[in-house]
Amino acid sequence: MSLKRNVLQEISQTLDVILKKIDQENNDYLSGMGLDKKQKKLLLEEMENFEKKLQAFWIRQKIEYLKIMKKLPELIKKDLKKVYKVKKAILSEEYENQLIEIITGFIFVNEEAEIDQLAALYLSFSNSFFPEFAKLCACSVKNSKFEPNQGLSQRAIDWINQHKIKFATKVNQTTQNAITQSLKESLSKGIGTLSAGNKLVSDVPNYFNQSTHNEKSKKLSKIIDVKTYNMLYQSIEQQQCFEFYRARRIARTETISAMNAATLEGWRQSKVVQGKEWLCSCDHRSRLWHKEANGQKVALEESFIVGGEKMLHPGDSSLGASAENVIHCRCTMKSILSYQMRR
Ligand SMILES: [Zn+2]
Repeated sequence: MSLKRNVLQEISQTLDVILKKIDQENNDYLSGMGLDKKQKKLLLEEMENFEKKLQAFWIRQKIEYLKIMKKLPELIKKDLKKVYKVKKAILSEEYENQLIEIITGFIFVNEEAEIDQLAALYLSFSNSFFPEFAKLCACSVKNSKFEPNQGLSQRAIDWINQHKIKFATKVNQTTQNAITQSLKESLSKGIGTLSAGNKLVSDVPNYFNQSTHNEKSKKLSKIIDVKTYNMLYQSIEQQQCFEFYRARRIARTETISAMNAATLEGWRQSKVVQGKEWLCSCDHRSRLWHKEANGQKVALEESFIVGGEKMLHPGDSSLGASAENVIHCRCTMKSILSYQMRR
């Protein structure tokens, strides 16, 4: 079993390196942003909380998926409707896709509920982070006219609600895609190497041509033989989309994006900030079009044009900016007070 231990060791070392890299990036980013102590403390606390919540969500989700997977052989026998939809297949790739479709059809049964849960998770994060961070930003503006009892502006509420749906849908879709992909990979690996795989392929035309329902379902439970089934089960169990470094990356990206939106809201609430300036960290890792955006000044409620796309702040995709314009961006903004705008 030393081979297995070596592999585990390697995985754990790789994860360690990734986590350290993310932490280093975080520190670099935060120290270059000019946050004050309170802002930094709040940001780090919320980032950590969010990460823990995401992690807990994925652990629950993984357990749920594996539970369903355990029931799968039994379910396949019962769920004839789904079996009807599967058409005759001769090519192994076609067959694989159909089998994956059946399996994922079972596993992702609660898609809507999962999206709702993720949206609720985002909302609880932003309810505790957003107003508090906006307040800190509003107070830090010179001659601020911030009133402690004012609530969030409609623009901020809209941003949160829109973002919450986007976040939940995207995160859930990514998880599902990753699982589907790893099921496919393990299946095609199995077909190439296991004798069970050859049997699978030769069984397919028979299975789909059978006349009675009972025979069809019997065949399908035979197609998923123990070896293949275990392989598929393991591929979900080992799938990295549930791992904690993904939670850390997402928590980081989302907190920074929310921070930029909350900063904008704080400036709004200060009632003295009239404009904003895009600041690029401008190191070797910055994208060219973010370097070009450096120094761009616009009115507070207007959007920057970055790489031809509209963005309200770094990390903002609410106006349709593409993922490559948003992910892992380390740009920030500077406020422009009214007297500076008039010049
Ligand atoms: Zn950037």
